[in-house]
Amino acid sequence: MASVRGVEESKAPEKQKALEDALYSSLHGVDDPERLIEDRNCLNRYLRAREWNVKEAGKMLKSSISWRQETKPKDIVCHTCKQQQGYHSMRQVGHDQLGRPVFYSSFTQATQRSETKEAAVQHIVYLLEQACSVMEKGADSCVWVMDCDGMFMSACNPQIAYGVNQVVSYHYPERLGLVLALNSGMLMRGAWAAIKPFVAPQTAAKLCFLPSPLTLEMLISENMGEELSTWLLEEVRLNLERPIRESQRQFWEAPPSLTGHDPRGCRSYVDRFLLPYYRKLENNEATFHHPHPNIVESLRTHHFFSMPVEAD
Ligand SMILES: [Zn+2]
Repeated sequence: MASVRGVEESKAPEKQKALEDALYSSLHGVDDPERLIEDRNCLNRYLRAREWNVKEAGKMLKSSISWRQETKPKDIVCHTCKQQQGYHSMRQVGHDQLGRPVFYSSFTQATQRSETKEAAVQHIVYLLEQACSVMEKGADSCVWVMDCDGMFMSACNPQIAYGVNQVVSYHYPERLGLVLALNSGMLMRGAWAAIKPFVAPQTAAKLCFLPSPLTLEMLISENMGEELSTWLLEEVRLNLERPIRESQRQFWEAPPSLTGHDPRGCRSYVDRFLLPYYRKLENNEATFHHPHPNIVESLRTHHFFSMPVEAD
C-alpha cells in the first residue's frame, strides 16, 4: 500500500541542486512576471515531473509561464459553484502533519448532476491556487481525500478526468502529492481503468484506493494529526448516513451548534482561515487564503449581518 507521504524522491541533494542551477541558467531572459524561475522549489518540481531532464523541464516551465499569463489562474473562481451552491464539494479542510493542504470531496454532498471539463478545471485550479498560498514551510504538495460514496455515472467521465489531469500535471506538476480514494465502487474503478493508460506512471502511483474507512483510519491517524484525522473520520461517517443530514449537505455553512461537527473543515482551519476572512479582506491584507467559493459567500452573509449598526 502507498504511503500517505506519497512518492519519495531519492536523487542526492547536491545532484538536485546542480540540475536546478542548470535549469535556471537555461531559462535566462524568459519573461516571467511571477518569478517562478527564481523559486528553487518550483524548478525542483518541474525537474521531478520530467524525470530530471533539464531540457524537457525547461520547455514545460516556459509553457506554464505562458499559460499563467494567458489564463491568470490566481483570478479564477468557480462560476458553477457560484451559480449553484455545493455544485462541487471538493474543498480544503486543513493541513497534514507535513504542512500539506488537505482537500476532501464527497459525491453525496455535491449538488452536481452533470460535469464539464471547463467547470472541473476551474474548480480544481481555484483550489490549488488557494492551497498553494497557504502551503506551510517544507511542504510543496497537497493531499486529496476523495470519498467516492454516492458517485454517479456522469461524474466519472474519463474524458473529463483526462482533461483535468492534463491541466494539473502540465501546470501544477507534483502539486497533487497523493489522492486517497475511499468507498470506491465499480464506477470509480472502471473510470480509473479507462484513464490510467493515458496517465504518467509517476502520476498514477499517487492514487491510492482504500478498501474501507478502517484503512483510512489506519493510514491517516499517524500522518494527519489527531485533529484532522478525527475530523475526516467523522465527516466520512456522517456522509454515509441516509438520508444525509441537512447540515452535511450544506457543507459550506457553519454548524447549527458551536460544539457540533463543522463540515467546512477542522477546527484549526476554521479558526485560522474562515473566521478572520472578512476582517483580512477589509484590512486589504496582501495575500490570504480564499476557501471554497460557497464558504466565502456564506461568511460574507454572516459577516455583514453581524456588523454593528452605527448610531446617527
Ligand atoms: Zn466549483
